[in-house]
Amino acid sequence: MLRHALDHELLGTAQPVAGFLDTEGIRDTVHALHTAFEPVPDVLHTFAVKASSLVPVLRLLADLGMGCEVASPGEMRLALDAGCAPSRIVLDSPAKTREEITEALARGIALNADNFDELDRIDALRPADCASVIGLRVNPQVGGGSIGAMSTATKTSKFGVALRDEGGRERVHQAFAERPWLTRLHAHVGSQGCPLELIAEGIAETYRLAEEINARLGRRQITSLDIGGGLPVNFADDTVRPTYDDYVDALRTAVPGLFEGRYGLVTEFGRSLLAKNGFIAARVEYAKTSGGRRIAVTHAGAQTATRTVLMPGSWPLRVGAFDAHGHPKSGAPEVQDVAGPCCFAGDVVAEARELPPLEEGDFVVLYDTGAYYFSTPWAYNSLPRPGVHGYALDDAAVRCVPVRDAQTLDEIAAESGAHHADGLLGLAPEPVGV
Ligand SMILES: *Cc1c(COP(=O)(O)O)cnc(C)c1O
Repeated sequence: MLRHALDHELLGTAQPVAGFLDTEGIRDTVHALHTAFEPVPDVLHTFAVKASSLVPVLRLLADLGMGCEVASPGEMRLALDAGCAPSRIVLDSPAKTREEITEALARGIALNADNFDELDRIDALRPADCASVIGLRVNPQVGGGSIGAMSTATKTSKFGVALRDEGGRERVHQAFAERPWLTRLHAHVGSQGCPLELIAEGIAETYRLAEEINARLGRRQITSLDIGGGLPVNFADDTVRPTYDDYVDALRTAVPGLFEGRYGLVTEFGRSLLAKNGFIAARVEYAKTSGGRRIAVTHAGAQTATRTVLMPGSWPLRVGAFDAHGHPKSGAPEVQDVAGPCCFAGDVVAEARELPPLEEGDFVVLYDTGAYYFSTPWAYNSLPRPGVHGYALDDAAVRCVPVRDAQTLDEIAAESGAHHADGLLGLAPEPVGV
């Protein structure tokens, strides 16, 4: 694939960094997800749009039977532009404005309220003929995983209604008793770094709460459970582990009732659907030595591998070394840093990594970066958003299509206020004594 990209100048001196998505890999992963959950009679698999906020990706996923989980007006717009049916969209943001809520309810988009105040807003805004499924997000407070920033079920998490806080559970009961249209419970226990057992425990806790609420109300008011996403991804090598089958096994052990068909299920996976189906490739601009350390200065840094650069301990990536023609480099491995183009010292995607010596004109590949990396760039140093390409390998042939164009300098200027260039000058002090 890399060779095809170089031959067709998708990557080179003009485009020194780009993202690539393996469409067959995505199809296989979506298939694996659907197959794993086949025992559940009624399930809607949505894709967490933040993991790859690219319209062609969302359309491909919609074509494969997936809906979208969105968390902002921008993500809602992308899901709709991709052709996702409103009834297959779930809105989950923790900071929904009244306008956002009104729009979602008018369109029949499902919505999970994050807190009781949001439920009060919905009381006021909900039209009489509302088609939206409305749920309440709870925080089962089962604890965190290995990455604090990815753990949403800690005691003090900002997400959902804290079930173990004093009076929390009672207020949830009351909220459902007062609102017959509130028919779903939602929990997303966490993302990367959360063990399956922890996620399953959070879902079990949510399931038990649903049973308890329905029993107390004497009717099956809660008809569906949204169990979130969060299946971790193995960044250490090529194998997919854990698999969706592993996840379903963990759920079966912790919550056998989930498979009895009494509740519809919604899932919201992101990273596990895309991470292993994409990579970033970047040109080595310079190779230098500093303090005895070899350093390859490449075009892939914090602007596209933001988490890895800012939190290297939590988000290590595998790096591949290729020559200017896209062939794997040989050469005895040497310890070197793979740095990026950003102007801060920490802009290093791999520190002290053993790789064949990288030289000017070579390429590095950052593996498993199909989710949350090139789709979610950071505008640091006014570096352009890299182009993204989708590809399929058939026998010997490679077919490649554009997914997102690389950002141009005109676009960077425009989003940097070029239209208001004189704006601040207009605030000059009034001339005195006139
Ligand atoms: C981020 C997020 C997801 C997706 O998490 P992954 O780890 O990418 O699977 C799902 N649901 C909610 C509410 C989220 O915030």
